Amino acid sequence: MSDNKRIHILDAIANRPAPALLPASPVDFSDYGIDVFGTAAIRAHLSKKTADRLLETITERTPLDPAIAEDVAHGMCSWAMERGATHFTHWFQPLNGGTAEKHTAFLEPSGPAEALAHFSGKNLIVGEPDASSFPSGGLRCTFEARGYTAWDPTSPAFIKRHPAGATLCIPTVFCSYTGEALDKKTPLLRSVQALERSVRRFMKAFGHPADAHVSITLGAEQEYFLIDRGYYFARPDLVQTGRTLFGAPPAKHQQLEDHYFGAIKPRILKFMAEVEHDLWRLGIPATTRHNEAAPAQFELAPVFEDLNLAVDHNMLVMEVLRQVARRNGLHCLLHEKPFAGVNGSGKHNNWSLSYDGRNLLDPGSNPADNALFLTVLAAIVRAVDLHADLLRVSTAGIGNDHRLGANEAPPAIMSVFLGDQLMAIVDDLAGNQQQKTGKPTSTTLRVGVDALPPLPRDTTDRHRTSPFAFTGNKFEFRAVGSSQSCATADCVVNTIVAESLDALSAEIETFQPASFNASLQDLLRRTFRAHRRILFGGDNYSAEWRKEASRRGLPNAPTTPDALLAYKNPENQRLLESYGVLSSAEMASRYEICIAEYRRKSGIEARVALDIARNIVAPAVEAEYGELAASLHHLAGHSSAPGTKAIRAKFSLLGTGLDTLHDRCAALEAAIAAPDSKKILAHALAALRDTVDGLELIADDARWPLPKYREMLSMY
Ligand code: ADP
Ligand code: MG
Repeated sequence: MSDNKRIHILDAIANRPAPALLPASPVDFSDYGIDVFGTAAIRAHLSKKTADRLLETITERTPLDPAIAEDVAHGMCSWAMERGATHFTHWFQPLNGGTAEKHTAFLEPSGPAEALAHFSGKNLIVGEPDASSFPSGGLRCTFEARGYTAWDPTSPAFIKRHPAGATLCIPTVFCSYTGEALDKKTPLLRSVQALERSVRRFMKAFGHPADAHVSITLGAEQEYFLIDRGYYFARPDLVQTGRTLFGAPPAKHQQLEDHYFGAIKPRILKFMAEVEHDLWRLGIPATTRHNEAAPAQFELAPVFEDLNLAVDHNMLVMEVLRQVARRNGLHCLLHEKPFAGVNGSGKHNNWSLSYDGRNLLDPGSNPADNALFLTVLAAIVRAVDLHADLLRVSTAGIGNDHRLGANEAPPAIMSVFLGDQLMAIVDDLAGNQQQKTGKPTSTTLRVGVDALPPLPRDTTDRHRTSPFAFTGNKFEFRAVGSSQSCATADCVVNTIVAESLDALSAEIETFQPASFNASLQDLLRRTFRAHRRILFGGDNYSAEWRKEASRRGLPNAPTTPDALLAYKNPENQRLLESYGVLSSAEMASRYEICIAEYRRKSGIEARVALDIARNIVAPAVEAEYGELAASLHHLAGHSSAPGTKAIRAKFSLLGTGLDTLHDRCAALEAAIAAPDSKKILAHALAALRDTVDGLELIADDARWPLPKYREMLSMY
């Protein structure tokens, strides 16, 4: 019987029974949204008058009338208690990247041994959590530790279940005493308002009524890994940093391309079905599930929703994935790069814009609609070109640094992919053929007169390497990391598109009706020409693209510290401030928080690696080395005995490996102690990993203490 924990875990997994099939029973979707205080619950639990006013606040995004708060709170509380909730919490998204909650019971003592349910309008509308434990990046001095949460009625309250009950969650924003945003939602909501204003102005410039409903939509595809929980606990690197700091590449990983869209294993399907059921109860429309490219990697995609709600829903998706994994003896890894050498995970942020129910990114069926579509497209292309650094910083983080540009995710260089057909149209509009041949071509598309050819949707024109790809009727911002909130990325997308629409509107507003189409044609020609450099349809992974991008003058910030400088750029500060999205103090705080988080996380990774190498790997290898020494001692004088040569060779390899391991541990320790040691730290960590991974390939398998890549990635 082995005393190696890893071997015990392997045995337990091999002997685990497969899940049994459920008996066939009819399905309906009546549970959908059952834990959400949505329209049906509002109508059932509030008077008609209050319900109408609340629903108007939600759909029109008008301020909530404080006079109805008491009634709303009362109705919401009785609904939540009927559904088993004992507590409520304001649910918000502080700058540490997660979600936060502080529960308070509905219970209020009303006499000796007597209690009532209590939840007031004030409880619903504002909270005052102690903000001192959340990062503020200098926005809030510690003596003014109060932070305020304020209800955001556009994201409905919902109920979160736990094994012993349930909690009413009220989505809120989180601000300091002086009104500065201490969270990710406030700037997002501000950017939504800014973009709505700019879209209305733009539509008016095109002669549409300026008061229709603007809707910004998001469908966030979520990639994740699942591994057996036993492995997770045997890997302190996964527990403490979310990624494996060591692990030799397995012989078989994703090179046979046999996982993507492959048949889903029953155990994983059980997990996925439970996730979907939990999400459906929360009104989260998860509809797509499949295996992803790497072994043990999967994807979940919801139907797109209103941006603000979709951002909240994605935070819940990540939470539900983790919880359901736990119930199924699995662990869900949301890190952007949990395993070196196989694909990492992202979050494909599908973003679009509608006006009066019409998707502005859908090429239309008549020339006027096409003119509008091409102008929106021009505005977005312009926005990405002018503000690539802001898009890059919106996805910055230590985990994503390992993924961006690692040959499987879009690189850190921003560019826009349009597809061959649209690209040809844009080139035509920009007059590029004319530029090349020196004479006008007969094919020039006349805006507002000619119809666009039908453009292929995403299936025919897929492009996996572009960070910002047009996919038929939306843009897919693919640089967002799997563990990140979409809030920051979309806050930037909204703001830069708002600015760009405004810049084009300012010109369009001066056009004379008689020459509108000709003037628009000229504006599009100038815009596409000026920003042609951001368009790229080739292989974004290639070294040639890096060279070409640098020739085109496109920014390339490969690491988080480089990317974060965008927050310090005065032009960016002016932009975000003028759109009322982030003040320069708020931007400075984001810089401080992100850089501190980056440093802390790299320090943690280094210390965990040191601990594992010295206290887990070295003792295992030393034990084998000691036994080999004893065998050699035994064999002294019998140097011709069979196997002696092999034992001697292995003894020597392990000895050298151990010496190097201890030297490299010492170097890493020195790097941890050195001030401002970012680069040295990364080098020392990589060198130590090299040694440990080399030892894994020569040391006795039965003694190796850490679950191996081949086991973690294929044990289903
Ligand atoms: P693929 O992996 O082929 O890109 P998926 O079906 O996995 O396709 O994901 C596409 C995502 O894009 C879905 O979440 C979908 O709801 C979303 N989407 C589709 N149309 C829009 C839109 N107009 N606005 C935002 N998201 C959209
Ligand atoms: Mg997908």
